[in-house]
Amino acid sequence: PNAFLGSLPTTIFTTMSQLAADHDAVNLGQGFPDAEGPSLLIDAACAALRDGRNQYAPLTGLPELREAVARANARDYGLEVDPAREVIVTSGATEALAVSLMALIEPGDEVVLIEPLYDTYLPVLRMLGAIPRCVRVEAPDWHLPRDALRAAFSDRTKLILLNSPMNPSGKVFSVDELDFIADLVREHDCFAVCDEVYEHLTFDVRHIPLMTRPDMRTRTVRIGSAGKSFSVTGWKIGYITCCPALAAVIAKAHQIVAFSSAPNLQRAVAKGLDLGDDFFRDLAASLKSRRDYLAAGLGALGFPTLPADGSYFLVADISAHAAGRDDVAFCRDLVTQAGVAAIPVSAFYATGGAEPPRHLIRFAFCKSEAVLREALDRLGRTF
Ligand code: PMP
Ligand code: GLN
Repeated sequence: PNAFLGSLPTTIFTTMSQLAADHDAVNLGQGFPDAEGPSLLIDAACAALRDGRNQYAPLTGLPELREAVARANARDYGLEVDPAREVIVTSGATEALAVSLMALIEPGDEVVLIEPLYDTYLPVLRMLGAIPRCVRVEAPDWHLPRDALRAAFSDRTKLILLNSPMNPSGKVFSVDELDFIADLVREHDCFAVCDEVYEHLTFDVRHIPLMTRPDMRTRTVRIGSAGKSFSVTGWKIGYITCCPALAAVIAKAHQIVAFSSAPNLQRAVAKGLDLGDDFFRDLAASLKSRRDYLAAGLGALGFPTLPADGSYFLVADISAHAAGRDDVAFCRDLVTQAGVAAIPVSAFYATGGAEPPRHLIRFAFCKSEAVLREALDRLGRTF
């Protein structure tokens, strides 16, 4: 078997969720909501199952979902999108990312990434023979070091993989930062693959797609996820928006990887996307109040939290309680001794590079307030 994949460790999310289950811990590790998604979507999916929407969907997605994605792009960001040629539905953003990278990369191409980063990026790049060039946003304010970013680009750069709102930091890139990135993409005549799965989960700021910045329309692949936008992470329906020339090649990659995605769920997601502003405003407001509740509770227990303007996640500083333990050891003890699961932030850094921070852990706040209260109560008994 393939030696690289054989040696790839089990993802930290599975490891921590299993540990949480084994110890009956409150799971604030893996990022999934504990509430059901909107009944409109659940009912639509059930109806579509009963209506016989159970055979292969078209390769690039049900027309009704592609049209809804195009309408959402126009409504939310003023992007004019051709649903027939510029949208591809995938089995989650995870597949969308993999097929976009497959479609763009040749062995030896360089890819610029920003750490801390989501754990599927580097293994996919490695499988494609790409060379990663990582730049770090640094805690505690997740500032983007512009000189380092500029230095990471070269004449071999094929693309930058940008995640905003960002997991695990919760950083939402500002328009200034996006314009700086857009300038680099233009100067180096390359592309951007934009993981925007948390696009609607922002709290004090608005998410801006890089695709909306000058000259980025045909250089950018924009990726969204129904799992995140509608609190149904198990559905694994993602969507790609990009220009026809890129979409044609990405569709080939999708053809050989998944071919198509669940048609009943696609129909439900199409209805969800049309819910529009009010729905997403309520979702963000509800998450924001849970973020604030958890941040206040953690702060009072001596775990100061870092700024998080978007996503499901809050990063906390464990220095006051670490007693010599790094983030990985601390998270293990947290599950077994306090009964609360979190994720060590060092898991979001490339191995073999500069030393990652070892004093930060990530909590998911996409849980009911009762669950967050129980987690804080448990932490309060230990710390
Ligand atoms: N990108 C990021 C940054 C994520 O946090 C996740 C988490 N689920 C994904 C992609 C994958 O999304 P999906 O579940 O739609 O595959
Ligand atoms: N995106 C989720 C997180 O960061 C995990 C998804 C997964 O388990 N692969 O928690």
